[in-house]
Amino acid sequence: MIDLMPTSEEQAAAIVRAHQEMNRPLAICGGDTRSGFGNAVAAEDRLRSTRLSGIVAYNPGEMVMTARSGTPLAEVESALSESSQMLAFEPMDHRPIMARSGEPTIGGVFAANVSGPRRIIAGAARDSLLGVRFVNGKGEIIKAGGRVMKNVTGLDLVKLIAGSYGTLGFLTEVTFRVPPRPKTERTLLLSGLNDAEAANAMAAAMALPVEVSGAAHLPLTVTWKFLAGKLPEGEATVLRIEGLAGSVDVRIEKLAAAMSVFAAVTRLDEPESRRLWREIREVLPYADGTARPVWRVSVAPGTGHQLVAALRLEAGVDAFYDWQGGLVWMRMEAGPEGELVRRYIKALGGGHATLIRATGQARAATAAFHPEPEAVAMLSQRVKEKFDPAGIFNPGKMG
Ligand SMILES: Cc1cc2nc3c(=O)[nH]c(=O)nc-3n(C[C@H](O)[C@H](O)[C@H](O)COP(=O)(O)OP(=O)(O)OC[C@H]3O[C@@H](n4cnc5c(N)ncnc54)[C@H](O)[C@@H]3O)c2cc1C
Repeated sequence: MIDLMPTSEEQAAAIVRAHQEMNRPLAICGGDTRSGFGNAVAAEDRLRSTRLSGIVAYNPGEMVMTARSGTPLAEVESALSESSQMLAFEPMDHRPIMARSGEPTIGGVFAANVSGPRRIIAGAARDSLLGVRFVNGKGEIIKAGGRVMKNVTGLDLVKLIAGSYGTLGFLTEVTFRVPPRPKTERTLLLSGLNDAEAANAMAAAMALPVEVSGAAHLPLTVTWKFLAGKLPEGEATVLRIEGLAGSVDVRIEKLAAAMSVFAAVTRLDEPESRRLWREIREVLPYADGTARPVWRVSVAPGTGHQLVAALRLEAGVDAFYDWQGGLVWMRMEAGPEGELVRRYIKALGGGHATLIRATGQARAATAAFHPEPEAVAMLSQRVKEKFDPAGIFNPGKMG
């Protein structure tokens, strides 16, 4: 694999034009921490954003940042932290579960629409993305959206690029919202609920006017892995409250009063709360150094536990839940069981299952992304042909 690392957008465009003319495919890559996602890519050359780095514009008062796509996520987060701002969608770091090294980039975050626990109230990465610059498959430089929040020009293009995994364009620059960071946080922990009871409790919590910003359920098989084994005994259903200290205290007491009908409640202070949500976001229980298949399933919040219960009758499954039960992280004991997983998702009303981790062999035999309905697949195909008519970007990755 030859790495091509342009230092400017024009250089990137020239590389793409040359590859289009030669009909020579390109694997698109940032810090190489998430490039294991999806189906195997058939390309000998790799176009990397690593040298397109640096924050282009950041005025905290505007609550908007523009950065080149290869800027390390750590650099973005450290600049935001200095101004008490953040990426509201709380992107996970995939290195622990994928056993990767390398430096995650801000472009990679948006290309894969990486969104963590706060998504249930703050939206996904794509909802924070206001503008992009990218090179399409013809080697043309395209600009969509912009820095001004009210400017809706090109917004659909922006949404399309987020989550396209480098199959539509090579991102060179991203502009995104950066709201204030909550001053503090605390977590309420309910002990001993089974999966179905936890789903009910989380639904009740989300319906309260206390702004729960994280709702996860950790069954017995995983609780011991969090906070170095210091969670109270039994299953843990955890609810996060963020904001100013006084307001957090008032809201957590309201929440505790309402939740005490479901289970015994404990409170976690800021340091444990922060650590716990980072561990949930990073899927710590399955950062186990193995290549056992890991699925990320996104379904309606009330159906996640039903999916797991149904699968358990036919396969070895370990699972825990984020997003009020709507995001299910599943580790399979043996093969990925892709057909089984998708059959049950369909039977329970639909959703998405994405194969995040697997051996090369299992990956070759399983579609990594959820098959699209025929009409959507046709639309995707037309979009792909428009952006990349020669099909040189990440061929095969999304099917
Ligand atoms: C709060 C909440 C409530 C929900 N409620 C329901 C519900 O009631 N019922 C229900 O069925 N689901 C529900 N869902 C799940 C929802 O329908 C989708 O499964 C989910 O939004 C998909 O987003 P994602 O975060 O999984 O991944 P995304 O990155 O947004 O992408 C989802 C999948 O789309 C495909 N994809 C992404 N970009 C492209 C592209 N450019 N070209 C082709 N394919 C692409 C990929 O297969 C990818 O894995 C809910 C989700 C949330 C967050």
